[in-house]
Amino acid sequence: MPYVAPTAEQRFVLDCIADLPGLAARPAFANAAPDIVDAVLAEAGKLAANVFAPLNSIGDKAHARLADGVVTLPPGFIEAYELYIEGGWAGLGVPESHGGQGMPFALVVAVQEQLTSANMAFALCMMLSQGAIEALAAHASPELQDRYLSKLVTGEWTGTMNLTEPSAGSDVGALKSRAEPCVDGSYRIKGTKIYITWGEHDAAENIVHLVLARLPDAPAGTKGISLFLCPKFLPDGARNDLRCVGVEHKLGIHASPTCTMSFGDNDACVGYLVGAEGAGMRAMFTMMNNARVQVGLQGVAVAEAATQHAVAFARQRVQSAKFGGGRNAVRIIEHADVRRTLMTCRALTEATRALVYLNAAAVDRAHSGDSTGLADLLTPISKAWATDVGVDVASMALQVFGGMGYVEETGAAQFLRDARIAPIYEGTNGIQALDLVGRKLAQDGGAHWQEVFAQIGDTIADLGVDADLAGLAPWLDDALAATRSATLWLTGNNNPDDVAAGATPYLRMMGVTLGGWLLARQALVAAAQLKAGTGDPAFLKAKINTARFYAEQILPQVGALSGPVTRGAAMLYALSEDDLAA
Ligand SMILES: Cc1cc2nc3c(=O)[nH]c(=O)nc-3n(C[C@H](O)[C@H](O)[C@H](O)COP(=O)(O)OP(=O)(O)OC[C@H]3O[C@@H](n4cnc5c(N)ncnc54)[C@H](O)[C@@H]3O)c2cc1C
Repeated sequence: MPYVAPTAEQRFVLDCIADLPGLAARPAFANAAPDIVDAVLAEAGKLAANVFAPLNSIGDKAHARLADGVVTLPPGFIEAYELYIEGGWAGLGVPESHGGQGMPFALVVAVQEQLTSANMAFALCMMLSQGAIEALAAHASPELQDRYLSKLVTGEWTGTMNLTEPSAGSDVGALKSRAEPCVDGSYRIKGTKIYITWGEHDAAENIVHLVLARLPDAPAGTKGISLFLCPKFLPDGARNDLRCVGVEHKLGIHASPTCTMSFGDNDACVGYLVGAEGAGMRAMFTMMNNARVQVGLQGVAVAEAATQHAVAFARQRVQSAKFGGGRNAVRIIEHADVRRTLMTCRALTEATRALVYLNAAAVDRAHSGDSTGLADLLTPISKAWATDVGVDVASMALQVFGGMGYVEETGAAQFLRDARIAPIYEGTNGIQALDLVGRKLAQDGGAHWQEVFAQIGDTIADLGVDADLAGLAPWLDDALAATRSATLWLTGNNNPDDVAAGATPYLRMMGVTLGGWLLARQALVAAAQLKAGTGDPAFLKAKINTARFYAEQILPQVGALSGPVTRGAAMLYALSEDDLAA
């Protein structure tokens, strides 16, 4: 059951949700001409399907392994990485001024989706390097950029982000790694970082670690944190004093080396300051915001791959007669309950894809002069809702396989195991929900959620005047009304415990509502194209029916979340800690 890149769907969403033509009209993204976009999606789709996907199960079984300080990747990964470099993929979204191809992040995300569907563990390497490039391009001195950017942009070197320490996870401000200034302007870094993705491996000549650490006189908390670039190999070719001292055994993404990194065992780890002293969190946020959208994308990518896999299985597996339908066994795709599962998988995959692409395009618009407000608002929703959907869809897809899903040989279990990390890293989904209710709703006086809700209102009006789609309008209207009331309740509430208590169900509410809105927008475009006789009728009709299914079967969940959002914290503390432990 090979992975096939959904290029027609991706192109449709890029055009009508991300407004790629509008982005291409901006000087920064003038390279994104329609024929180039098609060629990029087609070629990346081949790389994903023919090179990355065949290694997915191999990597899962072989794992990345550490021996004598060297991390060895599973068989075939180095050769595949060379093909990735040869294709110039590492520089796709990098501005031409830094040696890249200047494509919008929205297109980069579509390519990254394909690579991640095919092999999530491997595609993480590319994702981290893209974030490192962006952080250096935005914050590093011209000298550091000259020395490090070009080889990251070609992909000859890879990048990492080093925040987490044993006592500093969600609470990054608690980190203890130290940075001592030296007379030559560099710093000596000392500390231990844990869970560092692709922290060590044998596919690249050099690894550029971006490391958060504190100067000796730095204030406590996040204000005292600075960002340093610590290369594995120094400019003179000598090995820097940093090493991988462990690789985690974990539930999924086995081919991605998750490393414990030790910096400065011999007090000689050279680091170069990126940005100003004490401004490390700001610089790291450049990388993390990119990464948060891309982690949301991992949810979409795994959902897509798991759904394709489950549909292919369900078309072949024969089991049981239809309910009330005689004695002849049928293929399980004919059973209503299996259809419900597959339709749900498909609709959620398309809804989250649209959200993440919209988010990526908002990042592009912010980079080319617009307010960052929409990107800021959408990022925690993309990250958390899409990754929850990734796990849910991978689990539903596994269910379609029955026992064959639970045993390892079909690969359905790997999707679920791989997907499970995404709600945890890049800020847990609980932290994303707090960011949404605590910061993002209030940003610019609430202007951004108000603007989004106004746009949903416009879509409802457009649906209402289309005879074929008017049936979707009440579902979306109900969801919007419930989400608006919950938003007003949260933004008008001064009790932080009550607001925090409602954060996670509220983020889900927002995600489900935005998903319904974006599918409805696609249905409107599909209906117009059908009327005009343009496009592939089967694809366009499927778009409309998927939006209908989502409106009728998934959007009603929004109303049910109103209670959990607005009931406050008291009930969550109704059992004491001892009661919980009893
Ligand atoms: C496979 C893998 C790869 C990773 N890659 C990287 C990497 O490349 N670089 C890097 O720096 N880190 C990386 N991480 C670390 C990852 O980002 C952290 O694990 C994550 O941020 C959570 O931190 P923690 O594990 O310490 O959990 P904790 O912070 O201890 O959280 C435990 C639980 O408590 C909740 N919680 C914590 N604080 C709050 C709060 N204030 N309010 C409400 N709930 C709260 C969390 O939501 C979570 O459910 C990786 C982790 C893994 C497992």
